[in-house]
Amino acid sequence: MTVDRTLFATTFTTLPDWPCPTCGKGHLKADKDALLNQETGPSKAAHEHDAWDPEWIERRFAALLTCNFANCGDLVAVLGDVSIVEEYSYDYDGEPTQEFNERLKPRSLSPAPLPIRPPEDSPELVKEALREAAGLIWQSAEGAANQVRQAVEHLMDEQGVTKSAPGAFVPLHKRIKEFEGKDPKNAEILLAVKWLGNSGSHAGGLTRDDVFDAFDMVELVLVNLYDTTTATIMAKVKAINTQKGPVKPTP
Ligand SMILES: [Zn+2]
Repeated sequence: MTVDRTLFATTFTTLPDWPCPTCGKGHLKADKDALLNQETGPSKAAHEHDAWDPEWIERRFAALLTCNFANCGDLVAVLGDVSIVEEYSYDYDGEPTQEFNERLKPRSLSPAPLPIRPPEDSPELVKEALREAAGLIWQSAEGAANQVRQAVEHLMDEQGVTKSAPGAFVPLHKRIKEFEGKDPKNAEILLAVKWLGNSGSHAGGLTRDDVFDAFDMVELVLVNLYDTTTATIMAKVKAINTQKGPVKPTP
């Protein structure tokens, strides 16, 4: 499963049904009536200006979202800015009608939904860093990328790659190169993650899309290393072929 970028866009007409960060089974539902959405004082004062335009309006919103999975019911707090955008709708004759519509821009979700689904057996510290990255994505692509990079450092620890040499730490690039010796396929992917997270290599700065690419790549590596689905099914396949029929569970 790669990042569904429609769920992690910058702005929304209505808040989407994000996946629940706690159970991973349910989706977060917003009670529209419970959404606080108010215009700021400076924005109200600006209406007096001769050149005032609806696009000048600034509002803030806050809401509690509820997981709809019956056994979970966790709550996620979301808050952010609301801006007004000018749009046109067209009738049958192609006549345009000017409209001013609201756009919600989340700035924080707590706890934050994860854009990917790491296998259950992934190392806890790796998952923790990815959760941190998921929270930061709403505030700073750079900050989020830094946490994805931290997840890769934890993964290298978990894989037994040299962490420090006498008197110095070992840079991530060098660690991935060492990892390449035992796992070239996953090392190649992690090297790309490292380049993506290196903001100095981006002329226009790091974008959210870069971070989502990095999330997709880390998820692929975690699936390659820790997902047991294929092994479990293949074990059953072999047992059934040996038995030439269904395998009864041992009592
Ligand atoms: Zn839930």
